[in-house]
Amino acid sequence: MRHSSKLLFWVAMAAQAAPVDWIWSARYVVAMDARRQVIENGAVAIRGNQIVDVGPRDGIDKAYQPKQRLDRPDAILTPGLINTHTHAAMSLFRGVADDLRLQEWLEKFIFPAEARNVDQEFVRWGTRLACLEMALSGITTYTDMYYFEDTVAAATKEAGLRGMLGQTIIGFPAPDYKTPQAALAGAERFLKAFANDPLIVPAVAPHAIYTNSDETLKAARALADRYRKPLVIHLAETKTENDDSLAKRKMTPTAALDAMGVLSGWTVAAHGVWLNDADLKIIKARGTGLSHNPSSNMKLASGVAPVVKILGLGIPMGLGTDGVAGSNNDHDIMREIDLAAKLQKVTTGDPRALPAEQAFAMATILGARALRMETLIGSIQKGKLADIITISLNEPHAVPMYNVYSQLAHALHGSDVADVMVNGRLIVRDRKMLTLDAPAVMAKAAEYQERVKKSLR
Ligand SMILES: [Zn+2]
Repeated sequence: MRHSSKLLFWVAMAAQAAPVDWIWSARYVVAMDARRQVIENGAVAIRGNQIVDVGPRDGIDKAYQPKQRLDRPDAILTPGLINTHTHAAMSLFRGVADDLRLQEWLEKFIFPAEARNVDQEFVRWGTRLACLEMALSGITTYTDMYYFEDTVAAATKEAGLRGMLGQTIIGFPAPDYKTPQAALAGAERFLKAFANDPLIVPAVAPHAIYTNSDETLKAARALADRYRKPLVIHLAETKTENDDSLAKRKMTPTAALDAMGVLSGWTVAAHGVWLNDADLKIIKARGTGLSHNPSSNMKLASGVAPVVKILGLGIPMGLGTDGVAGSNNDHDIMREIDLAAKLQKVTTGDPRALPAEQAFAMATILGARALRMETLIGSIQKGKLADIITISLNEPHAVPMYNVYSQLAHALHGSDVADVMVNGRLIVRDRKMLTLDAPAVMAKAAEYQERVKKSLR
């Protein structure tokens, strides 16, 4: 009798519990919501591509009946990480030329290597390699600027990642389009083709102010606005860019772009190293999102972005890995969190600068704000898209743990990421990529290495 009444109780409970596709639970859920909730023994319920609830595990387990579940008592569950600036396909050039100035690096190595090697298949395999690396280190959304962006989009969807993907417009013959006019027309086809895609936000990506004519830059802005899509661009990356603009235009790159109207609208600008107070005023007024790339800025000796000042003004700034050809050379955003914080401390002379929680926010909710996607991603909240990851604490460098943000910012690595879900789809489980054939992608990378080496002889 006792047995059957217990059974009846559970049948009744199950009937009350709402059906969901997944429950994920973990030792800590770090929500990155406005209240910065950290829920010990927390859980997240997911239906379709949405988060339907988050809270203590007991409550979630009572309220929902999942089809599948993933329990990680030795892990932290966080929002998926956001990489706000990269050139994914350049992964096949990883480390091809190090220890050079940006202009020399670009002109002597990168542009020739691209001219000789980059075609649609190169972009397909390079993007697959980058997506594999990014997914395995917890990145669920990334912003890209490259050539053959429709192929980047196809590879990104194959991997199951989310992307704000920008078709490059540049003032010299590129691997995909020989003129800026052709690139603009190609970008328009790209915007149309991916206008309503669940994973892809197509974008227009004029490379920079110094590689495009003013007419092209204005046309890029007009095109992005016509389709209500973002414009992504490199901005104020080096002192040379800044000095050249001052010499030629008597204006900083930011002021010059603003005078052309290029910053009026949905814009994501990478680097923002050489920004003066007037530039910051413009960026704040225009609602431009910024991407901070500490590894790249350090490796190319570009300078240090005034991150503390930028965030203090309420300008949203996320983190980026940039291309890995010679300016990083990996896609581990966990490393960028650590470097961003330490770089601000050492340059301001203040160890309180960019505290761990704020540095981690740059890789999540602030990154989402920089992309103007904060209503969709960047935190674990009811109604947001189900982009979540687990990070294992079952490692010597992860214990003991007195403060979860300190661990996330300064002790854990991308390689500690165990599981990744994007848009409600599990794409990494137990450090295994479920969507891409990892051995095949890595074999192709070795093949391309030989090809690229020969081409540079
Ligand atoms: Zn870049």
